[in-house]
Amino acid sequence: MIEASLPDAADVGAPEAVTDGIHLLVDALRLNDIRNIYGVVGIPITDVARLAQASGIRFIGFRHESDAGHAAAAAGFLTQYPGICLTVSAPGFLNGLVALANATTNCFPMVQISGSSERHLVDLQRGDYEEMDQLAAARPFCKAAYRVQRAEDIGRGLARALRTAASGRPGGVYLDIPAAVLGEVIPASQGAASLWKLVDPAPRQLPDPAAVDRAIELLAGAERPLVVLGKGAAYARADEQIREFVESTGLPYIPMSMAKGLLPDDHPQSAATTRSQALKRADVVLLLGARLNWLLGHGDSPQWNASAKFVQVDIAATEMDSNQPIAAPLVGDIGSVMNALLERAKPGQITVPTLWREELSTRSAQNIAKMAVRLEAAATALPMKFLGALQAIRNVLADNPQAYVVNEGANALDLARNTIGMQVPRHRLDSGTWGVMGIGMGYAIAAAVETGDPVVAIEGDSAFGFSGMEIEAICRYNLSIVTVVLNNSGVYKGDAPAVGGDPAPTVLRARHEVMITAFGGKGYRATTPDEVASALREALAARAPALIDCIIDPSDGTKSGNIAHLNPKGITVQH
Ligand code: ADP
Repeated sequence: MIEASLPDAADVGAPEAVTDGIHLLVDALRLNDIRNIYGVVGIPITDVARLAQASGIRFIGFRHESDAGHAAAAAGFLTQYPGICLTVSAPGFLNGLVALANATTNCFPMVQISGSSERHLVDLQRGDYEEMDQLAAARPFCKAAYRVQRAEDIGRGLARALRTAASGRPGGVYLDIPAAVLGEVIPASQGAASLWKLVDPAPRQLPDPAAVDRAIELLAGAERPLVVLGKGAAYARADEQIREFVESTGLPYIPMSMAKGLLPDDHPQSAATTRSQALKRADVVLLLGARLNWLLGHGDSPQWNASAKFVQVDIAATEMDSNQPIAAPLVGDIGSVMNALLERAKPGQITVPTLWREELSTRSAQNIAKMAVRLEAAATALPMKFLGALQAIRNVLADNPQAYVVNEGANALDLARNTIGMQVPRHRLDSGTWGVMGIGMGYAIAAAVETGDPVVAIEGDSAFGFSGMEIEAICRYNLSIVTVVLNNSGVYKGDAPAVGGDPAPTVLRARHEVMITAFGGKGYRATTPDEVASALREALAARAPALIDCIIDPSDGTKSGNIAHLNPKGITVQH
């Protein structure tokens, strides 16, 4: 409610107390349990941020809207409730839209609330300040887009946005609020009556018992069954049921990268160390919150057994058959589906043939032995290799299992994913479904803000550059984030020679540890694995912003990491 002394209230000469769009928005956010807003202020939303902060909502101010949006998306993933990103009109909105689209692709719930310019000017294209039809621009990039046209609809608009983002397959929702609506004054009683709190934002969706039985029969008849855990399973927070099902059946499983830690990576049933063999040979595959997209080779042979049958558990019915025939679709939320599977499978009905178990463990032992040779060679090599730095990081993280790991890059992503085991669910956030760069600092900030636990962001030097300025935000809010830059002086590699006097397109040069000192954080430069380990231990113990620039051999790294095959074939370009 606006205090009587405010000019707006006086202007309308209201006989009773009044409120306005800004107050209604903040009241609606508070009513719906929003604790944090991630954004960048400016016209027309600065006072939304100010009032939110004054009302007890934490406002985390960023340097770029994409980073704020990525933070909101990560907050959504970590809390199972939409994260909120606040942006200004046109350019700020568009910057945030990148993150909204990325969140939608990853099935993370978030709401981007953006101020926008005056409708009567925008719609006639009269050339308003930051003129843009944001609603139309947002629509193709998110799950849904809504616009509020009257202050009395702000509560409704927010409820609709939160509901859409959180329920069914989670995703990003855009909520457009023109400046005039934020400034619109209405009676306080009318405003209060227009707000409501969502009941059960993401209702459970129970599977059909017949579909559950079909899935059980298929799994029971398998000779080489396999479970693939995806980030949908991590998001669903059905940790206990998933563990009980996997352990009671003995099924081998592989985790997708953000599902790592759902069961500890050193679990005896993990087939992660024999992933290729498991995919190539499995005859019945249970997909738990994982899509058969490019990250799983679309389910196509030769990566997969051509006659493999799929059981897919997903909240989105339309996901079924998107790539391969799904022999047993199980539509529902993963918690309810796991409960049903546990209830309806008879004891001993689903088992794992010994031959399959042995095949996997033999191959796994071979792969571990091969990897051990690589790791040993890298452990002490100088100049430092990716795997040298990563082993040092791995050893420190093993003593800090509660730390959140954010990871992006090409080689930095591939090698860290395989080297660093996770022990706890939802503690790894990475480039995700698009394989994007630029999520690093946003995700790290959200993890620190939402959980209060320490965060280690393992970044390729190129990836870090996209959101690197947020180091300032990390220092400003004194967040417990240690950014570890694996700096091989370039995109993929940093050893390409200059051409025509200019650096090669893949070359980068930076002393990242110097950067953080400008904002009051602690910088480390590490040239050996021992230096990496001691810097990381010290930085984690300090629980304060730090950046460790790890100097990696510029010749270490491969073009595009393990997805080099996605580059166009054509004629090889040398530099
Ligand atoms: P990954 O990249 O780890 O393989 P994906 O993002 O491809 O995972 O797949 C996640 C899937 O999980 C999506 O298809 C999404 O619809 C689904 N999903 C998200 N939340 C739930 C839930 N609570 N219950 C069931 N499925 C879910």
